[in-house]
Amino acid sequence: PLSTTETIEPQRICVCVRKRPFNKQEINKKEIDVVSVPGKGALLVHEPKHKVDLTKYLDNQVFHFDYSFDETATNELVYKFTAKPLVQSIFEGGMATCFAYGQTGSGKTHTMGGDFTGKQQNSAKGIYALAAQDVFAYLHHRRYANLDLSAYVSFFEIYNGKVYDLLHKKAKLRVLEDERQQVQVVGLEEIYVTSAEEVIKMIQIGSSCRTSGQTSANANSSRSHAILQIVLRRNDRATTLYGKFSLVDLAGNERGTDVSSNDRSTLVETAEINRSLLALKECIRSLGKNSDHIPFRMSTLTKVLRDSFIGEKSRTCMIAMVSPGMTSCEYTMNTLRYADRVK
Ligand code: ADP
Ligand code: MG
Repeated sequence: PLSTTETIEPQRICVCVRKRPFNKQEINKKEIDVVSVPGKGALLVHEPKHKVDLTKYLDNQVFHFDYSFDETATNELVYKFTAKPLVQSIFEGGMATCFAYGQTGSGKTHTMGGDFTGKQQNSAKGIYALAAQDVFAYLHHRRYANLDLSAYVSFFEIYNGKVYDLLHKKAKLRVLEDERQQVQVVGLEEIYVTSAEEVIKMIQIGSSCRTSGQTSANANSSRSHAILQIVLRRNDRATTLYGKFSLVDLAGNERGTDVSSNDRSTLVETAEINRSLLALKECIRSLGKNSDHIPFRMSTLTKVLRDSFIGEKSRTCMIAMVSPGMTSCEYTMNTLRYADRVK
């Protein structure tokens, strides 16, 4: 397994996978573990050939990623190999992105926002907060002092292709593109912040806004993308944009085809999610190829992240989350195939 002393190779696109541990319910139900992490970048899925015959897990599938994390990995360890190496790039004027991808319940929000113990989210231990801590460490470092930068934070949600401001009462916002292809979310709150503690407060405000009013905490948030942005601006009169770090808790990637619902709104929702995840894959691939053509107009998600897919200094990281159980096997395979094609 990965240790904290492992050296990290900086790269433009990094794709990792994280397996979460079984929860109590799964243990009680005697769920079968079909995912193993045999090496620092490998992941193995023992796909059941016949669902009824539990003895035949013969169709082993091995995937290779930049890093793979097993169920013992902490958020701190995952952070060290994924988002942490990107902090430097925003201080060099780049646009960094980190995505959590996977089926609902696979650990995206746990990884990005921090663990929920009961109803309280331990926001200080998620990648959002860990990234914020490093951003302020850099900001106060004398090497970057002459850049004269300030940090701001935004937090918004994309649901059914519409943008909602999580730091401003879920206000619905418009996305506009000007003739120079610059994309803007009109009226998005950008809060000036001076410490990681202030960012954590914003994470808590935004996260509670995300799930409030729902009977099940996961019900609606799993159908939307949540984007936390830490923005660096120069302290000039125009507060010119310098660098941006977008940390994205993506909507659950489960396909709608096996959902028994004929509910039209669910179908529309699912189609929109599929489209945005497909667009995301294409945009990251074009970043990897240094391509001039970025198909960012395919979805609202890729539109608002347009800047992240261009520029020499832009870097991205995707963390594919998988559940360990056999009942999640199909979803796990879908997640791994997607992650495999991103790079
Ligand atoms: P998602 O956001 O992908 O739908 P969550 O992050 O809400 O999934 O995780 C589902 C459940 O599993 C939560 O109760 C969460 O606390 C737990 N969980 C997820 N990942 C881990 C992990 N690495 N260690 C311990 N518990 C986890
Ligand atoms: Mg979630």
